[in-house]
Amino acid sequence: KWRDILSDISENVTEVSYRSWFAPLVPMEIDEDAAVIYFATSKKQIMEVLEMRYIPVFERAVESVYHKKYKVVVKNKTESEIQQQLNMGTTQIPSGNNPASAHTSGKPPISTPKPKAPPLQEENELKEEYFLNPQYNFDNFIVGENNKYAHAVAYAVAESPASTYNPLFIYGGSGLGKTHLMHAIGHYILEHNPNMNVLYVSSEMFTSELIKALQDPKNSSGMMTRFKNKYRSADVLLIDDIQFLEGKESTQTEFFHTFNELHDSGKQIVISSDRHPSKLRELDDRLRSRFQWNIVADIKPPDYETRVAILRKKAELENVEIDNDFLDVIDLIAEKVKFNIRELESALSRIISYSTLFHEHIDVKYARKNLNDIFSTRDFNINCETIKKAVCKKYGIKLADIESSKRKREFSHPRQIAMYLCREMTDSSLPKIGEYFGGRDHTTVLHAYDKIASEIKNNEILADEIHQLKEDIE
Ligand code: ADP
Ligand code: MG
Repeated sequence: KWRDILSDISENVTEVSYRSWFAPLVPMEIDEDAAVIYFATSKKQIMEVLEMRYIPVFERAVESVYHKKYKVVVKNKTESEIQQQLNMGTTQIPSGNNPASAHTSGKPPISTPKPKAPPLQEENELKEEYFLNPQYNFDNFIVGENNKYAHAVAYAVAESPASTYNPLFIYGGSGLGKTHLMHAIGHYILEHNPNMNVLYVSSEMFTSELIKALQDPKNSSGMMTRFKNKYRSADVLLIDDIQFLEGKESTQTEFFHTFNELHDSGKQIVISSDRHPSKLRELDDRLRSRFQWNIVADIKPPDYETRVAILRKKAELENVEIDNDFLDVIDLIAEKVKFNIRELESALSRIISYSTLFHEHIDVKYARKNLNDIFSTRDFNINCETIKKAVCKKYGIKLADIESSKRKREFSHPRQIAMYLCREMTDSSLPKIGEYFGGRDHTTVLHAYDKIASEIKNNEILADEIHQLKEDIE
């Protein structure tokens, strides 16, 4: 429901407002009798702005989801009260906004390090702060072989901005910690130099602000001036996901001037991208070369040990009791989810929130059952080839035999099992699976699948064999 409410709201307010005021909220409870619905935030400023400007929007969204009128109340709570609420799993509105799942929706929870007076009019949108996620700090960042260089230079920049590594360019695949590192730099600087003007912005946001400012004819309400002032007065500019500037020429030009002005006056610039600058083909040469003036640091996918360490850290942050069963679950998830830390974390939080919701003990069996979809479809290594090989090995037959049309049971039975497993464990279509077995048509595959599926219902030995096979394949 919470997600539905959020999505309704996001259609009725600007992206900036949504991210600033709604995304960080945590749903608390519904009082059915009094028809009141409670939300919490640890930031007083957010509460004030919501009360001042957005309660009607909020109430309309709630009404459209529940088909009933509720009064919306936003409470100001401490971070730990909110954390407690989330961990106890007592949130009565199924929450789409616990810290981990919020990231996966692409709208990270955000909060402000330095509250400023809230803007009153829509046109002041440009002045709204971009917030830094308090969880994205250096303490929570696990350093491994994959990211130690990026971490080291990020830390150096945080310790002494604009002295050595300027600009700093960080690149790596999605979900590998670029945004986390950038926020960490921001937090560190603000902690040690509270007067510095630290500005974090995604390049999408930069673009949409620029477009808005450009719509102000002849700068008559000063939007363009404000836009320029805002970016050119930064002491530290953290600009995320620069690849979104590709192909956007006027935004690139504006960014080029911003870059030059900041760099010339000795301000720190940190840029992130999903690619090395040389691979940003649709980018102005002048920008591409500037991005490589100094340090270009990459982040790679984490190795197994780093994945385990990240999961443990995450479990600690969520106050989970880490017993041996839980450590096994961590190992399991770390084995399965390899290329994206966001997915790694969301697998873990899903298990944690299910178990708090249903009061069940977390062990490997529980995790396998509840993460089945993630494990079977996202595991790059499970395909029909690996399944065929595993089945052949188990039943002592040759690959050529499983692919043949030999009808003897010693071949046809393993073949049917292999087809069954291909359907269960991969995303391959029936015709595709047929191709793997000597070009059989899809009805044969379906027949094999149904046959095995019904056999295992009555045949425990077979069910066990297949379970064992699945584990071997995984
Ligand atoms: P990107 O910006 O590269 O797409 P994010 O910075 O958003 O990735 O990271 C995705 C998630 O993974 C975040 O929740 C972040 O906290 C977490 N994460 C990434 N790298 C690490 C790390 N080294 N240690 C701990 N958490 C990490
Ligand atoms: Mg990011």
